[in-house]
Amino acid sequence: MRFSDQNVLVTGASRGIGRAIAGAFAQQGARVAVHYRNNAGAAEATLAGLSGDGHIGIAADVSEPGECKRLVRETTEQMGGLDVLVNNAGIYFTRPVLEQDYAEWQAAWRDTLATNLTGPANLCFLAAQYMKDHGGGRIVNISSRGAFRGEPESPSYGASKAGLNALSQSLAVALAPYGISVGVVAPGFVETDMTDPYLNGPRGDAIRAQSPLNRVAGADEIARAVLLLADPDMPSATGAIIDVNGASYLRS
Ligand code: NAP
Repeated sequence: MRFSDQNVLVTGASRGIGRAIAGAFAQQGARVAVHYRNNAGAAEATLAGLSGDGHIGIAADVSEPGECKRLVRETTEQMGGLDVLVNNAGIYFTRPVLEQDYAEWQAAWRDTLATNLTGPANLCFLAAQYMKDHGGGRIVNISSRGAFRGEPESPSYGASKAGLNALSQSLAVALAPYGISVGVVAPGFVETDMTDPYLNGPRGDAIRAQSPLNRVAGADEIARAVLLLADPDMPSATGAIIDVNGASYLRS
């Protein structure tokens, strides 16, 4: 029970990787705030599957700064604290640069950055204010292999995740004196609703073959890496970016 009596906010926990992260924390004794955008039924299903008690569900659009503020306020009020923030909510859509008009290009950048980068930045800011005054905490941001490998079919997504890496490492340095650690998990392809059309489409075999394991990761594998970075006994892991991509893209 590594996270007994810890309060954990997981964004985008209605499904996919976020649901697995919420489940892994609950299994280790944490109380979890299951955040979602508008899929209340799926969030209820996540909550119903969590072990232990004291978990809550909260809806908020993380692309809206005011909603981020309400999310952190309601989480701390309803749970009585915030020890761990996991910025997992994110969006991805395919939009190759030469197959769209200028207005679509701008919309893609606006929407992707608002959800994948500015939203997490705002939640980091708000959580840090709280954690600074309450004995510290841990923040884990979910990035992507695309930040390093490039995302030719979704440039705004790749850029949003590269920005999230830079944000996280900047905050790791700035917040360390206050007992707040900031880490990143950068998955390759993971089997979730987000990737279902790709993994079960004509390119599925080629995507699996990107890894010498000839498979993509399960969401539970990403959750294990998140718990490692959120471990209160691992303060020296702050600033780390853990790749979980089955050796499909190597960097050093
Ligand atoms: P997913 O199945 O599509 O789930 C996305 C989650 O984010 C949902 O809970 C959704 O809530 C929430 N969300 C989306 N936009 C939101 C917004 N504006 N405000 C609040 N919540 C919002 O995604 P996933 O595959 O589990 O991916 C989770 C994270 O891992 C993302 O950051 C993604 O970029 C990253 N990642 C995924 C993969 C992969 O292969 N799956 C690979 C690398 C990185 P609702 O259900 O209510 O809409």
